[in-house]
Amino acid sequence: MNPIRQIAFGYSTKCNIRCGHCVASDDSIPHGKMTLEKAMAIIEQMVRCNVTGISFTAGEPLIFFEDMIRLVKLCHEKEIYSRVVTNCFWAKTSEHADETVSALTRSGLSQLRLSFSRWHQEHIRRENVVNAANSCQKHGLDYFISFVTDFSRQDDSLEQFLRDNHLKFFPEPVIYLGRAQGFDPRRILTDYHPNTCNMNPYLSPELDMFACCDGGDQFKETDFFLLGNLRDYGIDELFKRKENKVLFHLIRTMGLTSIASYLGLKANEIVQYRKCELCEKLFNSTENLNTLEKAATSDLLNWKR
Ligand code: SF4
Ligand code: SF4
Repeated sequence: MNPIRQIAFGYSTKCNIRCGHCVASDDSIPHGKMTLEKAMAIIEQMVRCNVTGISFTAGEPLIFFEDMIRLVKLCHEKEIYSRVVTNCFWAKTSEHADETVSALTRSGLSQLRLSFSRWHQEHIRRENVVNAANSCQKHGLDYFISFVTDFSRQDDSLEQFLRDNHLKFFPEPVIYLGRAQGFDPRRILTDYHPNTCNMNPYLSPELDMFACCDGGDQFKETDFFLLGNLRDYGIDELFKRKENKVLFHLIRTMGLTSIASYLGLKANEIVQYRKCELCEKLFNSTENLNTLEKAATSDLLNWKR
């Protein structure tokens, strides 16, 4: 049976706003963009490699609106589930929102994902998100609000706003990587849960493919997630690297908690980490990674806590 293959597609890392928590935009790297022709050719290759879902993300995809329409149409023709992640800058009025949403719906988009957080909303009026969501409902386009939060009381009014407007949202924890690396994460105590992770891969505009779309290019000491560049390898080969690497398999099935326990972290330390922070501790250290690589097919595989 073919493995399920889905990918976050970074057409460009360029964005029209600058959120303080952004993990996608690294200020030290100039914002890249692939050409439309290249993106279309890559999607054609992805079809041949059984990719069934593409999420257009990274910077703000809809600043390249006409290109996005072409790419979404191509996905639709090839029967690939497509999603666009957007900050809703285009939904200033309900008329503007209708214009954009109806064009995306006609092109065959499967889902629009609307980003919402106190960092986004420093730049984008929160009413834009309401306009965008209402337009989606009007045009029968599936939508979903990604409410990025650090779960502090500061975000209570934002959550209440979403509830008052009867919007469909899901809270997503802020990831303390990228620009948010400078934040002071509040100390938390999580449950002692497995911390498994599905690991959706990410393709950057520079054609580097990573095994994870959130941590992707952030683990700079080890480049743990880097699978290779599309100029050097085919899509199928890069997917296979993700699917066949034992440590990635263990992240998906065994979970980060057991891997941390194997490395000797005590339970009372493990419960102080959020998932991506624990992942960073384990795999963005050459020393830890060497130990885990050596044990991956033997001691670690059989590790029971
Ligand atoms: S809208 Fe998204 S890509 Fe743009 S700065 Fe904010 S988090 Fe980053
Ligand atoms: S836990 Fe690791 S693999 Fe999962 S999203 Fe976070 S950084 Fe990526």
